[in-house]
Amino acid sequence: MPRDPASRPKTLRHVRDLADHGLVDGSSLPALERVAAQFAVAVTPTIVDLIDPSDPSDPVARQFLPDARELAIRDEELADPIGDDPFTPVKGIVHRYKDRVLLKPVHACPVYCRFCFRREMVGPGSDALNADELDAAIAYIAGNPQIWEVILTGGDPMILSPRRMGEIIARLNAIPHLGLVRIHTRVPVVDPARVDAEMVVALKGRRIATWVVLHSNHWREFGEEGKAAIARLVDAGIPMLGQSVLMRGVNDDVETLTRTFRTMVANRIKPYHLNHGDLAKGTSHFRTTVAQGRALMKSLRGDVSGLCQPTYILDIPGGHGKVPLTESYLTPTGDDGEWRVEDPRGTHHPYRG
Ligand SMILES: *Cc1c(COP(=O)(O)O)cnc(C)c1O
Ligand code: SF4
Repeated sequence: MPRDPASRPKTLRHVRDLADHGLVDGSSLPALERVAAQFAVAVTPTIVDLIDPSDPSDPVARQFLPDARELAIRDEELADPIGDDPFTPVKGIVHRYKDRVLLKPVHACPVYCRFCFRREMVGPGSDALNADELDAAIAYIAGNPQIWEVILTGGDPMILSPRRMGEIIARLNAIPHLGLVRIHTRVPVVDPARVDAEMVVALKGRRIATWVVLHSNHWREFGEEGKAAIARLVDAGIPMLGQSVLMRGVNDDVETLTRTFRTMVANRIKPYHLNHGDLAKGTSHFRTTVAQGRALMKSLRGDVSGLCQPTYILDIPGGHGKVPLTESYLTPTGDDGEWRVEDPRGTHHPYRG
């Protein structure tokens, strides 16, 4: 597909541009300017096309258009909600779990999600790793043989040019103890033109496998161009997983979650994690309770294909790691392998084992 940046409409980066496109109300501009001064704004032309301005509760708009409620910062909200900092041995690396590290080559994204858990770190002004810093990060990976997997994240690593993406993957490929590179990205749905033939070639595993994890929270994010971009990746033999954030007013009902996970599976993406909202600053209007999340997951179980069931996950604040929050279906009733198990209809049965 052609890639001619000059002929493409531009990403909207100022609240005034959003108002000119009828996406935000002119009367709210002063408050939104204050939001934008604190948290970066970017809305791609693809996302503009997906928003229905006549729908006041549009689930795409809510994720990307700044909102005055972001100015309400609560005491429990943190600048580093998942505690990356203490696990950063060299710039650009987060090593919290033994066999895998995050590698963050860039801090920019094609869009800025209003609920972003790294919103204090991402933005157009944040620096990417320079050549020496990237060398040091890759040397750290090469020097730690227990690392089996590198997760490229950021920012959004697919904002890199295919040439730079290809260089990083080739360097990882040359490290003998690595088996896998995983790329966390929103690009296939928010800026699908970036997934061109060159990018697909750059991503394709050589010795090590490449997996792409798509961050998507609502079936409405899947436009025709986005679906075609996903098909280019999967057709090239790149397996895809889905990662979503549970958010009030975006996807916190059974019908939306069902349709979102079905849309992923129909596009050959296996839903992997549904994250409970992190304590990022100015995001309380998006947060659900854990009880709501568990009830939603429980109502999917049984009625909806097993392929459409992600694991409901909490990233424990302070960097203590990710754990499943899913309801247990099993209760011990004696000391000796006696259990009570609940079926998807809510009926209990004795079980020994
Ligand atoms: C989320 C995360 C991972 C990936 O965890 P998985 O459970 O393998 O998906 C790895 N490292 C860090 C620091 C993370 O935050
Ligand atoms: S794409 Fe990811 S890193 Fe970028 S703003 Fe959205 S959630 Fe944050």
